[in-house]
Amino acid sequence: MPELPEVETVRTVLKPLVVGQTVTKVTVNLPKVVANMTPALFIQKMVGQTIINFSRRGKFLTLHLKSGDFVVLHLRMTGTLTVENPITPYEKHTNLILELSSGQELRFVDSRGFGHWWYFAAGESDTSGQENLGIEPPMVTLDYLQKKIATRSTALKTLLLDQHIVAGIGNIYADEICYRSKIRPTRRGNSLTTAELKKLCEQIPAVIKEFIQFHHVPFSVYAASKGTSYRNDANLAVYGRAGLPCQNCGQSLVGTRIAQRSSVYCAHCQK
Ligand SMILES: [Zn+2]
Repeated sequence: MPELPEVETVRTVLKPLVVGQTVTKVTVNLPKVVANMTPALFIQKMVGQTIINFSRRGKFLTLHLKSGDFVVLHLRMTGTLTVENPITPYEKHTNLILELSSGQELRFVDSRGFGHWWYFAAGESDTSGQENLGIEPPMVTLDYLQKKIATRSTALKTLLLDQHIVAGIGNIYADEICYRSKIRPTRRGNSLTTAELKKLCEQIPAVIKEFIQFHHVPFSVYAASKGTSYRNDANLAVYGRAGLPCQNCGQSLVGTRIAQRSSVYCAHCQK
């Protein structure tokens, strides 16, 4: 699943191609993609709208329209967004297409079909789930973690994945943050010392910022991969590396499961 750094890549790569564009035609090939109205109504509202900004909050993206209306979208497990020329053949599972005044098309491809788009009128309450998100990683403070994590008996990994605490962290970066903070992902929130909370406070923003930079790709690379090339796995220290040597101590990394999610950590470096 794309996490905050990957969703940020999608946003920065596509923003110049969608901002300033007017939507000239909309095709919805999978009705359930439009989460809060019928596809027919979505199409009616969307055609003629001009996109003035493309923003991100957690793993959600928002197309801001000149009218004040806005469209929220979530890629979920397998959703991808690309901007293509109309002559480019459609990928399988192209669930939604916005034709733009540039002549290009913003295409939403999603093989699992869990990705959603919501349309909201100006001033309407956002009910996409975005409204309940916790803070963005750069906003994390010790005081906040003391309230939201140190008071809980839940595993740290589970707390890091909770979008209501810090928005945008998924399985990959939760493991990387725990590794860098030298804390096992299985530790309970209320077992963490102030020194450990301080490390988390440094590493949550640092890891996310670093991977946003690692993932920076030019549009040509992004387009060639059909919007799937946005992760630089070579820089991951633990995720997907169970059984391989820890880059710090050389000991085999341990793979485990926490709340149904795979987790990898170093039993020597992480306490
Ligand atoms: Zn180690």
